[in-house]
Amino acid sequence: MSQTIQVLDKHFVPFLDASTIQTKVQELANQLAADYQNKKPLFLCILNGAFMFASDVFKALPIDAEICFIKLASYKGTKSTGNVITSIGLDVSLTNRHVIVIEDIIDTGKTLHSFLPQIHNQQPASVAIAVLLHKPEATTYEVPIDYCCFTIPNKFVVGYGLDYDGFGRNLSAIYQLAE
Ligand code: 5GP
Repeated sequence: MSQTIQVLDKHFVPFLDASTIQTKVQELANQLAADYQNKKPLFLCILNGAFMFASDVFKALPIDAEICFIKLASYKGTKSTGNVITSIGLDVSLTNRHVIVIEDIIDTGKTLHSFLPQIHNQQPASVAIAVLLHKPEATTYEVPIDYCCFTIPNKFVVGYGLDYDGFGRNLSAIYQLAE
């Protein structure tokens, strides 16, 4: 893995190869299977970035589970509420369900930190957060991460569902922005 790639106008260097990602994804699926046996968990995949990660974890999961897909949108609320996060596409009740939020990356943590209260409002049986990547150096908002595949430095990455300006999601490995 030494080949630099170009996505639009930017150069990226290899960071996590496809087999390293798949090994971690399988480990996560095994752990979730052990933790959620007989609980029929509901995966809540946050689009767009988590689609590939969620799909691979879900495929590797040997227990009964459901999945649904939502988008989070941020809009300006009133002065007192600031930016409001709203979800689009949530068509399943979370009440009494064991919810596993599947997110691509926690950067500042702002998105999930703002959205989690809306999940808890529906009184699920439990809520867990599973992320592919976490940038601890960038995280300033509190997010209770339960499962994390990779802790990474505070650098921009693309591939495996994550985009640069809409492109690069189809790469099966993860690449880091070149210096
Ligand atoms: P946060 O609210 O945690 O700051 O940001 C979360 C969102 O920002 C992620 O779901 C993702 O869409 C985007 N993001 C943060 N860091 C990166 C990165 O390094 N690469 C890409 N492609 N997206 C990122």
